[in-house]
Amino acid sequence: DTGSCRCHTCFTGRDCAIPDSSCVIDLYQGDPTMYENYWRENGDSCTTTILGWQRMSYYANSKKFFFVQTELDQVIRSLHEVIGNAVTKDRHIVIGVGSTQLYQAALYALSPSDRPVPAKVVSATPFYSSYPMITDFLKSSLYRWAGDAAAVMPSGNSDDEFYIELVTSPNNPTGEVRESVLIKGRRGVPTRSGALVHDLAYYWPHHIPITAPADEDLMLFTVSKSTGHAGTRIGWAIVKDLNVAQKMARFIELNTIGVSKDAQIRATQILRAVTKQYRELGGKIPYPLDSAGSPKQLFHFAAAEMSYRWERLRSVLKKGTKFSVSEFDPAWCSFFGESRLPTPAFAWLRCEEVEDCELYMRQNGILTRSGSYFGSQARYVRLSMLDRRATFEVLVDRLEKLQLIDSVS
Ligand code: PMP
Repeated sequence: DTGSCRCHTCFTGRDCAIPDSSCVIDLYQGDPTMYENYWRENGDSCTTTILGWQRMSYYANSKKFFFVQTELDQVIRSLHEVIGNAVTKDRHIVIGVGSTQLYQAALYALSPSDRPVPAKVVSATPFYSSYPMITDFLKSSLYRWAGDAAAVMPSGNSDDEFYIELVTSPNNPTGEVRESVLIKGRRGVPTRSGALVHDLAYYWPHHIPITAPADEDLMLFTVSKSTGHAGTRIGWAIVKDLNVAQKMARFIELNTIGVSKDAQIRATQILRAVTKQYRELGGKIPYPLDSAGSPKQLFHFAAAEMSYRWERLRSVLKKGTKFSVSEFDPAWCSFFGESRLPTPAFAWLRCEEVEDCELYMRQNGILTRSGSYFGSQARYVRLSMLDRRATFEVLVDRLEKLQLIDSVS
């Protein structure tokens, strides 16, 4: 893609300046194309060259988990230290083809193999819509999807029952901070026996205030939502228990004989560049931003962009009563050293006047994902807030017009 002669979707004409009101914008996926502009400006140090003879072996340069490049392992630890969002000391890092592969590896590693019934995989609604599909598509006898974690009765655990609870924090689709409702139980009292997977894909300072380094048994992260390099397909798990980490690595060995070294090298280069940006600041984080220039540091860019988008969306929604999104409370962010509002990757939008919000949006040229995919109501839709700026502007313009039509009629 040379980017020179194609107009962005929804614009036409020689200078790509004429809006095309009939075009459809696709906010169904959470594709993080928002970051392209940043990396176009700041990505020189991330150019990766791999010569024809290099990195040809199946094996990595580390004997530990066979397929993990030592440099990637190290830079992941450094990045978490700089950001302060996860504990990595004395933890094992397992690399996967995106956190999607690691999610499956975690289910494989955590499910007991000696029970007559499969482990029950649960997550409080609204949950990330891919979990049910990924859990059940191979019809494993080790585990199966069992829906809403909050709906599991608190007593009556039989010896055969084992739960795997997924905690996504901040949550996809709603953006709120979450804790276990089943395995750690309400008010910390365990109600069921089982294991926890914390999906922390969005626990980065541009989406949610960093309140403490996360220190859970099994945590999943990904470059897709931290640097925006979803196409590189690199995720990592931070695991306390060596046995669990080894079983996850075994899954990855059987599933794909490891993870592309080319992708690992690219991810290393990118994460190293980001870590370096912040190390160079020596703990002095320049926030609030100088509004004159575009931020040079990744999380500053992303935080400013997300804040702009959320303020803009909220200001448009306030002009009518047709749609609503929840309000969030600010919290102290240890990374930015100030109190900040969450700015989630998705808007969890409620249609106040129609029952099928996805259909209504589609009729108005906006593709979204219905609340029903998330174990919730069709009155809600999830909209990606991570698309290119131009698409976002088309979205808010359309929502604004829809609100106005309503207030006139
Ligand atoms: N977990 C959550 C909560 C997500 O939203 C996503 C991406 N939409 C993933 C995992 C998958 O990430 P990856 O690209 O690393 O497979």
